[in-house]
Amino acid sequence: MSQKTPLSTASGIPIADNQNSVTAGARGPVLLQDFHMIEKLQHFNRERIPERVVHAKGSGAYGTFTVTHDVSAYTKAKLFGAVGKQTPTFARFSTVGGERGSADTARDPRGFALRFYTEEGNWDLVGNNTPVFFIKDAINFPDFIHTQKRDPQSNLKSPNRMFDFWSKAPESLHQVTILFSDRGTPDGYRHMDGFGSHTFSMINEKGERHYVKWHFKTQQGIQNLSAAEAERLSGVDPDYSQRDLFGAIAKGDFPRWDVQLQVATEAELAAWEVRTGWNPFDVTKVWPHADFPVMPVGVFELNRNPENYHAEVEQAAFSPANVVPGLGYSPDKMLQGRLFGYHDAQLYRVGTNHQHLPVNAARCPYHNHQRDGAMAIENGGSARNYATLEAAGSHPVGLGNGEPALALDGAAARHDGRGAEDDFSQAGNLFRILTAQAKQNLFDNLAAPLSEVDDEILQRQLGHFDRADPAYGAGVRAALKARA
Ligand code: NDP
Repeated sequence: MSQKTPLSTASGIPIADNQNSVTAGARGPVLLQDFHMIEKLQHFNRERIPERVVHAKGSGAYGTFTVTHDVSAYTKAKLFGAVGKQTPTFARFSTVGGERGSADTARDPRGFALRFYTEEGNWDLVGNNTPVFFIKDAINFPDFIHTQKRDPQSNLKSPNRMFDFWSKAPESLHQVTILFSDRGTPDGYRHMDGFGSHTFSMINEKGERHYVKWHFKTQQGIQNLSAAEAERLSGVDPDYSQRDLFGAIAKGDFPRWDVQLQVATEAELAAWEVRTGWNPFDVTKVWPHADFPVMPVGVFELNRNPENYHAEVEQAAFSPANVVPGLGYSPDKMLQGRLFGYHDAQLYRVGTNHQHLPVNAARCPYHNHQRDGAMAIENGGSARNYATLEAAGSHPVGLGNGEPALALDGAAARHDGRGAEDDFSQAGNLFRILTAQAKQNLFDNLAAPLSEVDDEILQRQLGHFDRADPAYGAGVRAALKARA
């Protein structure tokens, strides 16, 4: 808005004076009729929307996705329709456990949420900077997050609570190893990779399903902060990552990521599961590169800062349920929970009609019969607000949009795999590829919080390190001893 536009109320009425309230006499009291002052104070009281329960502190930017390789054998999604094709995007990066004002350099995974404004609707790929997650079943998520947040009595973060949870959930060990490695404190958002983390699916023109994992490799190179530097920056520049991303884009130094895919058929995954014992839909596991090499797909560039942080970043409402025709879900239990959880969070946090806001609105024509609710904007205009049913039936095929039916087997029940599944080998594989210095940093980074936890919890967690690799457990014990 031009600075020359005269000041007005939100209803457009010119404001005579924005400096002095209307008072009875020079000293007051203030008259109730000073509606401009009242509106100003009322709106001020309502400036905040509920902060996200997780991923509250974040930074966002617009950009473009460019296809560099043909993946039409796997997906018919139009955004991948031709090499060179570009799709506008929006990205939001974040920390996870801290509040809206918390420090950007905290040891924490980083959210890596991408939106593609495609001609067939918005596709949201809402991942992290890690290829795996702490838990594999969404029913555990609120409990897990409570341990990352503040103690209900002291209102303090508590390593005891965190490791109490992790030590009883050995499937967390893989992600805990990443979190306490050097990559647990990335140097801003530009110098980290991103992952879709879950297994997703793709559907091609022939109606065939492939399963996929998404990778976003930073072209800026991986750079991490040492634990000491991350802690120092938490004090002197808690907005370090926001400053870095916003500043880079403002000066035309646009960050880019190579977009890559791992692809497998259902039969290939079934054979791999028999060979390795790993469930390909378990988000605590990666698909090893040697088994499923990555293939190039395109480039993701961020090249425009938002004009208004609240409107465009705080109100950005992602949902992994938003997939376009040619892309699909997988049976991953954690993903299945998120398909419900994100949209529900946005309904609470931003509102019933959050998809009407510019950052969230589809950039293609859309039409449905959802109407009304708070802050409805165009609201379907005069169009009919109900569906007429097809008297002869609509004869759906598979899951719709050309997606084939998904064959499932097994009894509906609460299935508990804990204790029986191998939650240690992949954490060990990661440990073994670290350099000697990176291993020592991992030991030291773990020993700091572990030196504060109860012995019972410590012993249980040390047992998990031992099972991943005896040298892992030994290293953490030595680091603990060095601190004692
Ligand atoms: P590879 O040797 O083919 O790949 C190792 C991967 O580990 C690379 O992607 C590397 O990223 C990444 N890496 C290196 N250091 C760290 C770290 N501190 N935290 C997280 N990732 C790191 O091995 P595999 O594919 O057989 O996987 C072995 C282990 O590597 C896995 O158990 C997993 O923990 C980790 N990994 C695997 C990924 C996968 O999709 N297969 C993806 C990311 C990690 P870079 O190339 O950037 O150095």
